[in-house]
Amino acid sequence: MLRYPYQRNGARTRPSPLTKLTGGPGEWFARVPGIDMRGGAVSATPIIDWFTTGDEPALLGTKCVACGTVYFPRQDIYCKNPNCDSEEFEEYTFSRTGTVWSYTDFQYQPPAPYIAQTDPYEPFALAAVELPEGIVVLGQLADGYSVDDVKVGSPVELVVEVLNTDDTGDRTIWRWKPTEEAAR
Ligand SMILES: [Zn+2]
Repeated sequence: MLRYPYQRNGARTRPSPLTKLTGGPGEWFARVPGIDMRGGAVSATPIIDWFTTGDEPALLGTKCVACGTVYFPRQDIYCKNPNCDSEEFEEYTFSRTGTVWSYTDFQYQPPAPYIAQTDPYEPFALAAVELPEGIVVLGQLADGYSVDDVKVGSPVELVVEVLNTDDTGDRTIWRWKPTEEAAR
């Protein structure tokens, strides 16, 4: 019999997308490719098939064919909806735009095992963005933007930017770009 993760604690409620935000800082980072504090080096986690590229990039995930629940990162083994026993999924391309659900600013370099992408360290802003599908996806704000450019509810769109460059070429990551000047 399959043992589903949500059953280990006896919990029967469907995991909320927001549960991914309830962990400590390490949990936050671990869920954002590119700033993985647990794994340390970004190159240890190849980022492939997480998003499309081109003029209008978008996040890629999966959708349960039975109940319609969408997943990012993709889910292929079983549906986390406790009322659904489907194991069939189809590819799903998420909306490119969403609104800022929450955000934070990393003015100081996080402690090890965080590995800075730049030397000296450059502060970055992290946003939790709610997509029309109802999920919240973390990501850095696009290059050149800071927490001064967003507020809760600000519209953003997904862009793909170069995270770093190594022997194999450019490593890219999705980021959230404000599409409206925030009221300050
Ligand atoms: Zn399902």
